[in-house]
Amino acid sequence: MEFDLIARHFTRATPGAVLGVGDDCALLAPTPGMQLAVSSDMLLEGRHFSPQDSPAGLGHKSLAVNLSDLAAMGATPRWATLAIALPEENDAWLTAFARGFFRIADQHGIELVGGDTTRGTLAISITVMGEVPPGQALRRDGAKVGDDVWVSGVIGSAALALAYRQGRLFMEQIDAARVLPALYLPTPRIELGLVLRGLASSAIDISDGLLGDLGHILERSHVGATLEFSALPTLPVTTTSSASPPLPASGMRCWQPPHPRA
Ligand code: ADP
Ligand code: MG
Repeated sequence: MEFDLIARHFTRATPGAVLGVGDDCALLAPTPGMQLAVSSDMLLEGRHFSPQDSPAGLGHKSLAVNLSDLAAMGATPRWATLAIALPEENDAWLTAFARGFFRIADQHGIELVGGDTTRGTLAISITVMGEVPPGQALRRDGAKVGDDVWVSGVIGSAALALAYRQGRLFMEQIDAARVLPALYLPTPRIELGLVLRGLASSAIDISDGLLGDLGHILERSHVGATLEFSALPTLPVTTTSSASPPLPASGMRCWQPPHPRA
């Protein structure tokens, strides 16, 4: 695709790479003695985001979900590649996307060193590379009998926010404002992952949900776990389910939805 577009939006200085964007390959020199941690995540329109979502938010989120995987491994972020399919060349959209992308990239010292740009239904696939000392990665198979289970932040906010945006439940705006950032501006726990090296026996990114993701650790580590529901950190927000609207008492009658659709 157009070198111009890549040059304008995705080419930055990459002092941490031997060679960044612009050649057939990037050239990277990992710190001697470190292991590379590599992960990819793909975001598709309609499945992971909607066309109305803010492009800057999307730039943030698409890199944030990848950084979360490095965090969950205890890896120091180093490099990223970005493969993006765009339905049209929209400079305003790309500028905003790149702003969100490079903002969080700079926060975590990760450099965009290459990628691919093609025309098509909007899709974003990012690969991140990080470094971890041999033997210190926070693997899923490391949990031991007697370990405590810890979570960072609060649980369930992104799921609540999604249900709210899809009109499946209602909450006051003040509550919505507290849960929506978990969906649109997730915070990767990079610093936490780094301090957990050598301390935690195991770790996992729980963006797919605590129970399912904890299950992956348990399966790989051949252990079980007990969770006390009351011990889970959640936000105290009040929601009303709209899953089953009240039925009309008799005959046909219009009824007021219990809440305005989001
Ligand atoms: P090629 O023909 O080798 O695929 P491209 O024209 O796709 O080359 O890309 C030219 C250069 O721009 C390469 O270094 C590639 O890694 C980089 N690049 C392409 N798209 C992106 C992108 N979205 N973000 C960052 N770098 C990109
Ligand atoms: Mg290419």
